[in-house]
Amino acid sequence: MKAILIIADGLGGRPTDQGGETCLEAARTPHLDELAARGALGLVDPIAPGVRPGSDTAHLSLLGYDPHVIYTGRGVFECLGIGMDVKRGDICFRANFATVTPNEGKFIVKDRRAGRISSGQEELAKTLNSISLEKSLAVEFEFRPSTQHRGALLLRGDGLSRYVTENDPHKIDAEALDFKPMDGHDDEGTCRTAAALNELVTRSYEILHDHPVNRERERAGEKPANYILARGASDLPHLDPIAAVYGVSGAVIAGGALYRGIALACGMEVRDAPGATGGLDTDLRSKAKTALAALETFDYVFIHVKGTDNAGHDQDAAGKTAFIERIDAELIAPLMKGVDWKETHLAITGDHTTPIDYGDHTAEPVPILYVGPNVRSDSTSVFGEREAGRGGLGRWSGKVLPILLNYNNRAPKFGS
Ligand code: ZN
Ligand code: ZN
Repeated sequence: MKAILIIADGLGGRPTDQGGETCLEAARTPHLDELAARGALGLVDPIAPGVRPGSDTAHLSLLGYDPHVIYTGRGVFECLGIGMDVKRGDICFRANFATVTPNEGKFIVKDRRAGRISSGQEELAKTLNSISLEKSLAVEFEFRPSTQHRGALLLRGDGLSRYVTENDPHKIDAEALDFKPMDGHDDEGTCRTAAALNELVTRSYEILHDHPVNRERERAGEKPANYILARGASDLPHLDPIAAVYGVSGAVIAGGALYRGIALACGMEVRDAPGATGGLDTDLRSKAKTALAALETFDYVFIHVKGTDNAGHDQDAAGKTAFIERIDAELIAPLMKGVDWKETHLAITGDHTTPIDYGDHTAEPVPILYVGPNVRSDSTSVFGEREAGRGGLGRWSGKVLPILLNYNNRAPKFGS
């Protein structure tokens, strides 16, 4: 049997216009509604009732893990997601180019995103990676750019530690902070990690500030990418890969590096869908096509779409509703046509609620739909938050993938 898991980021919503419909309820979704009629609905608290999820922790929970136990931070997923080879013991960061001016041995942050630099990042990174840190630190590093100012940073060396603070002040015209051991972590390895990071960012300015790319940027009136900000220190989480627990092979199709990274950490393989951007302009038909192809070799496919969350953060109700309608027409419809429903189970849900009025994640449960031959159908026939509250599956927390794989008779038995 095959399985498809679709997570529409930030799918859940609140009533808009004082008690009106949510974006999902307002969207015209004939295909999702047909699946709702054939299958069953419920509500899922991504992590637990009342817990406001981050996307990374929510995904770990939906995939069957306890993020309170295994989550070490976001950086490791960013590094994995952009294709870096992360080994146990490596310390990973979300990192980005920034614009600073030096001031008495410190650096004043003028732009946290280096003017959203859009070219020359590879050359800057190459120069940056030529730095050799002080030998006694015994630390090697790699910075890899991803999109615009964004990238990831990996430190490698014996005894390094993720218990270090960040250097991003999250404010303009503020001093870049020193990396420091977190409270209670003043051991040699953590101090050495912080020292390596401080040396690295100081030298990033020395080597980047008059780099040809930056001289050209300044001539063109653009902000130089002359410094590195890093945050989200983390290392590889200790977890049992999905394949080891359920005996199934899985592939991920996601435009966003974070989601590819999470899936890689859980043991899935990446399948690239041409035109998948991780934004509202993503090619959903391409994702459907890639998923159908992947199902020929993998037991399950995880498809992530991000546009719903982006529209929620942008407080764009029309944009979120329109994107949900595109999911229905351009992702769900071709999947409905392309899979063998006698031997496929599908689940679709969100990783949290991103209400238009609030513009950030909130803790309400999100609607979930399961459909396939082993699902006991309920009396619902519309995919939406309130209808899901009346669904036959009830309400629970996390574990969306384990429940999906149980329908495929892949759940390990607990006890005898
Ligand atoms: Zn999310
Ligand atoms: Zn979000």
